[in-house]
Amino acid sequence: TVELAALERWIRGFAALIGENTALLTRLDSAIGDADHGANMDRGMTAVVAALDREPPASAAGLLKQVGMTLVSTVGGASGPLYGTFFLRMATASGEVTSLDGPAFAKALRAGLEGVVARGKAEAGDKTMYDALAPAVDELDSALAAGVPLGDALGRAAEAADRGRDATVPMLARKGRASYLGERSVGHQDPGATSSALLVGAAAAAVG
Ligand code: ADP
Ligand code: MG
Ligand code: MG
Repeated sequence: TVELAALERWIRGFAALIGENTALLTRLDSAIGDADHGANMDRGMTAVVAALDREPPASAAGLLKQVGMTLVSTVGGASGPLYGTFFLRMATASGEVTSLDGPAFAKALRAGLEGVVARGKAEAGDKTMYDALAPAVDELDSALAAGVPLGDALGRAAEAADRGRDATVPMLARKGRASYLGERSVGHQDPGATSSALLVGAAAAAVG
């Protein structure tokens, strides 16, 4: 089960990872974008933590909505609306509850992923955050279906996200700024897939 406190640990842990990896994300985005993904995500997640400190959320939906709204209003760029939509769809799928069981958490993550697709139209292999998130959500579903406990299932999902992130290196970008580079986008790791792998890793760390 994912209690409200664990959801909050997840978000705060993600913010900490973004803070530690801001320079990496910026370096990756400088190779195939406009060198702002680290700053964008750090600005957003710093604002998210400030909002959590100011207004402790009372439900899963309340927390996830607060995260999504804050990201939409502070991040900008392509990743702001995409991450914002991810959390807002998760909020809608979660409801006014104070804990989610494994299948409910997986369902909410799936809804978030579908929101990313609805907004950005990315498909597998387009070299985007989808390429880290989709394998993670698939892995979580299959691990839970096989009876793997939630904490271990999230660990497997994080490994799948890392593999998905690494698999973006040889891809040719078909969405976002990197797509303007065409063949020159090949050979570089996607910044958004990198931050998304941190998001899944933070979930595995927060849920024991
Ligand atoms: P911007 O490109 O506007 O500067 P960021 O640098 O913050 O925004 O985010 C770039 C990341 O956004 C990319 O690395 C990619 O993973 C993700 N991205 C861009 N467009 C899309 C899309 N249509 N669908 C999914 N992810 C996308
Ligand atoms: Mg950028
Ligand atoms: Mg930008």
